[in-house]
Amino acid sequence: MALTSIWVVAEPGEGSLTSTSLELLSAARSLSDDVSALTWGEAGASHAAQAGEFGAATLFDVGSIGSALPGAPVAAALAALVGERGAPDAILIPSSYDGRDVAARLSARLDRPVLTNVTGLRDEGGVVTEHPVFGGTQTVSARFSSTGPGIVLVRAKSFAAEPAGGGPAAVVAAPARDVGPSGSAVIVASHVEARTGPKLEDAAIVVSGGRGLGEAARYALVEEVAALLHGAAGASRAIVDAGWVPYSHQVGQTGKTVKPTVYLAFGISGATQHMVGMKGSKNIVAVNKDPEAPIFQIADLGIVGDVQKVLPALIEALKARA
Ligand SMILES: Cc1cc2nc3c(=O)[nH]c(=O)nc-3n(C[C@H](O)[C@H](O)[C@H](O)COP(=O)(O)OP(=O)(O)OC[C@H]3O[C@@H](n4cnc5c(N)ncnc54)[C@H](O)[C@@H]3O)c2cc1C
Repeated sequence: MALTSIWVVAEPGEGSLTSTSLELLSAARSLSDDVSALTWGEAGASHAAQAGEFGAATLFDVGSIGSALPGAPVAAALAALVGERGAPDAILIPSSYDGRDVAARLSARLDRPVLTNVTGLRDEGGVVTEHPVFGGTQTVSARFSSTGPGIVLVRAKSFAAEPAGGGPAAVVAAPARDVGPSGSAVIVASHVEARTGPKLEDAAIVVSGGRGLGEAARYALVEEVAALLHGAAGASRAIVDAGWVPYSHQVGQTGKTVKPTVYLAFGISGATQHMVGMKGSKNIVAVNKDPEAPIFQIADLGIVGDVQKVLPALIEALKARA
């Protein structure tokens, strides 16, 4: 392996590091023998076992950031670490809201560019990144032309999260000393969207609805199927833009990337921008009244039919099975 070291920004989630952080640690491990993670929060150090299990030898812990957003303190801590320890070959950051904030601020602090929307990583004597373009129909490769650290924003579900079985990472305190004026912004209120089933991006079964549902009220049938299958409900952008469902349900290029075992699409045409977010699903089932709908090109099972008939029949069958 030619790469000397890679750092991963490991976001704290609900009781563990986020699934995207674990995917990035797994990817980093395949590129370098020297992987470090950086996390934050009251429970930062408690993630040492999981960070080590996924391949990090060291866990830099920024510690509590109080009621601040992570962007300013995490970027400040990373910049300080680069100053103290020298630059790694790459700093991999999840392409989440906070991750993008960290990357932008770190870029300004280090005067280094950011490669964004990355879905693949290679070592060719330096980090080479892969980016989907034209709605995911083409892939372009890019690399940094000057010395590191390369700041890389990686899309969720680009890599499998695979534990390496390592022992706990060594925790090293990495406080954010010079946060700067923007670090004084604090969160005054937050809202957690109510959810009963699994998270959309982590669900083994995703049931999505599109404009073919005909009206907003019919999305309740999609949610019912999702609940009966213990899955999560997704959506095409068309019905998000129409205000039928919140943006957090959107699957696709400008929404979430999902890779469930089963993806069910009801009344979704299969635009490239939707398919780029779900085509990695193991099994795709599509219901559409148009036999020429593009979704059928990637579906493992296609039903040419009316969602208004298929959805109630499926609900009845699932209830009868329960
Ligand atoms: C920059 C950009 C980013 C985008 N990002 C995303 C994204 O992240 N996610 C996304 O989804 N889209 C995205 N889009 C939009 C995308 O191009 C499509 O417009 C959108 O995916 C279409 O949604 P849809 O399939 O629900 O609607 P439509 O394309 O209108 O398809 C509706 C389908 O329902 C079928 N249908 C109608 N009635 C019935 C019935 N009764 N029973 C069964 N089938 C029926 C029709 O045959 C049709 O195939 C993006 C577009 C752009 C330009």
